[in-house]
Amino acid sequence: MVTQVQIIQWIQVFASVIEHNKEELTELDAAIGDADHGINMDRGFRKVSNLLPSFVDKDISTIFKTVSMTLISSVGGASGPLYGTWFLRASSATAGKKELTEDDMLKLLQSGLDGVIERGKAQLGDKTMVDVLSPAVEAFEQAVNEGMGTVEALRVAVSAAEQGLQETIPMLAKKGRASYLGDRSVGHQDPGGTSAYFMLRSLLKVVE
Ligand code: ADP
Ligand code: MG
Ligand code: MG
Repeated sequence: MVTQVQIIQWIQVFASVIEHNKEELTELDAAIGDADHGINMDRGFRKVSNLLPSFVDKDISTIFKTVSMTLISSVGGASGPLYGTWFLRASSATAGKKELTEDDMLKLLQSGLDGVIERGKAQLGDKTMVDVLSPAVEAFEQAVNEGMGTVEALRVAVSAAEQGLQETIPMLAKKGRASYLGDRSVGHQDPGGTSAYFMLRSLLKVVE
């Protein structure tokens, strides 16, 4: 079971990972974008961090909704609406839940991914965060179907996410700013995929 307290810790850890890797995310975006992904994400998650004390007496779905609204209003760029959508779908997926079972977690992760795909229209192989989130959801689902609990399934999902992230390096970008570069986008790791990997790794860290 993932508790409300762990959800708050997850957001806290993710915000701090973003803060500590702000330069790295921005450097990755400098290579194939406009050098602001770390700055964008850090701006949003700093705002979210300021709200953390108010999350203590809120339910899981409300917490996700607040994160979503904060990111939409402060991150900007392509990633703001996409992460905003991910957390909005996470909010809908967890409506009325006090704790999350592995099936609830699957629903959350799947809904977030579906939202990102509907919003950004990226397909697998387009060199975006979808290339990290999608294999993670697939691996999580398979692990749960095999009878694994949340922690084990998340370990499998994070390792699939890491592999998906590595696989963005040789890809040619077909969505977002990196797609303007054409062939020159090849050979670089996707910045949004990197932050998405941090998000999943942060979740594993707090539940294990
Ligand atoms: P911007 O490109 O507007 O400056 P960011 O630099 O914050 O925004 O975010 C860039 C990241 O957003 C990319 O690395 C990619 O992972 C993700 N991204 C961009 N467009 C899409 C899309 N259509 N679908 C999914 N992810 C996308
Ligand atoms: Mg950018
Ligand atoms: Mg930008």
